[in-house]
Amino acid sequence: MANTNTIEELHKLYAAGEAKPSEIINRALDRAEADNERLNAYLTINREGALKQAAALDADIQAALKDKPLAGIPVVVKDNMCTTGVRTTCGSHILGNYVPPYNATVINQLEAAGAIIIGKTNLDEFAMGGSTENSGFGPARNPINPDYVPGGSSGGSAVAVAAGHVPISLGSDTGGSIRQPASFCGIVGLKPTYGRVSRFGLVAFASSLDQIGPFATNVKDAARALQAIAGHDRHDATSSSVAVPDFASALTGDVKGLRVGVPPECFGEGLDPEVKARVEAGIQSLQARGAEIVEVSLPHTKYVIAVYYIIATAEASSNLARFDGVRYGLRVEEARTLSEMYRRTRDAGFGAEVKRRIMLGTFVLSSGYYDAYYEKAQRVRTMLVNDFAEAFKKCDVIATPTAPTPAFKIGEKSDDPLAMYLGDIYTVTINLTGLPAVSVPCGASSAGLPIGLQLIGNHFDEARLLNVAYALEQ
Ligand code: GLN
Repeated sequence: MANTNTIEELHKLYAAGEAKPSEIINRALDRAEADNERLNAYLTINREGALKQAAALDADIQAALKDKPLAGIPVVVKDNMCTTGVRTTCGSHILGNYVPPYNATVINQLEAAGAIIIGKTNLDEFAMGGSTENSGFGPARNPINPDYVPGGSSGGSAVAVAAGHVPISLGSDTGGSIRQPASFCGIVGLKPTYGRVSRFGLVAFASSLDQIGPFATNVKDAARALQAIAGHDRHDATSSSVAVPDFASALTGDVKGLRVGVPPECFGEGLDPEVKARVEAGIQSLQARGAEIVEVSLPHTKYVIAVYYIIATAEASSNLARFDGVRYGLRVEEARTLSEMYRRTRDAGFGAEVKRRIMLGTFVLSSGYYDAYYEKAQRVRTMLVNDFAEAFKKCDVIATPTAPTPAFKIGEKSDDPLAMYLGDIYTVTINLTGLPAVSVPCGASSAGLPIGLQLIGNHFDEARLLNVAYALEQ
């Protein structure tokens, strides 16, 4: 695990002339390739393209260090972000050979900041899952213990950072898919405020919930990664023009007088006792640094799984309608009519969990059931927004566990979708309310599996949120 270099360390090596970008990128590629058979973190490793970019930077690295915050830094991105000329599968056979003609905005931003993308990482198909076991290309494995899942859906991006291939990576988070794998792999994972980061070129799962964010081994690198991708994008009407502060300079570690809200609803039934103990100890360490602990209430927590799995599947059923064999990816040719071609293509291309979600989503939107499910879920979503607005009158950040348990064994929950969905209890609310949240490592279970503490901030308050995470990390 220990061979990761931070952004700062790599930049020091470059500045001192002790390493060239092509050497660092080559080393990252070697590590990624060597581990891939065991960990299956990558669906594509872009050796040729990455080395070409690195070689072009070799002569200019000193100049690049002055104005490119991620100059020569190897990064990886989840394989649901479009990359020009590089296959983008979404972990699905329906897009198994899909090569996008354009970059997602975050890709352009990373490259403009000087980063070099060395690979596209494994994920649950279309980001639907919490273990990476729903990938059409086999599960990724947890580098701490390969018998265990790395979490999901952005499992591969978490593995790449936790295994020391790259200092930062990008994932997407619709219901916890950055925070939960960060927690399972013992790293930092941030879901920014909805609208903070452009979603242009991110293949949509549930458009009102999806958000891109970074993984890193430490909070400072997560702040730097967020800096590179935050801000308004004219290609995404939901991206916000709220000013982007300097996130790294907010990391003072000073939490004196900060009010940390603790909701008892997130510490009750279903929470593993070891997770509870580690998270409570983390909260106490903030208190020891001068923060004030206040009790806040999130009374509608018991509804969040139901609400999320109605809204997310409804949006997914509509978003995934575009994969029909006509415009993108797979087409099953042996069909006599157009509708038979649609049916056969979708049957062959989508995996079981994606089909389950399309059916659920189609059902909750169908006439006769719309009011009972979809509309009611939207009403409860508003109540959740109100719960947090009330809570933030009493506190500055809220602390909860990221997930109710540490990582589980591969195969342990794969036949029980409901058990899998219940693992999302603390994370999905944050997407339903559009708030930013970060998972920070706060110790390990007796079996040596990492445990994450989730800090939730108010809308667009990532600077403060990251500072609290930084204090916790100290
Ligand atoms: N585990 C959740 C789900 O299966 C979250 C997925 C995500 O955030 N992409 O929907």
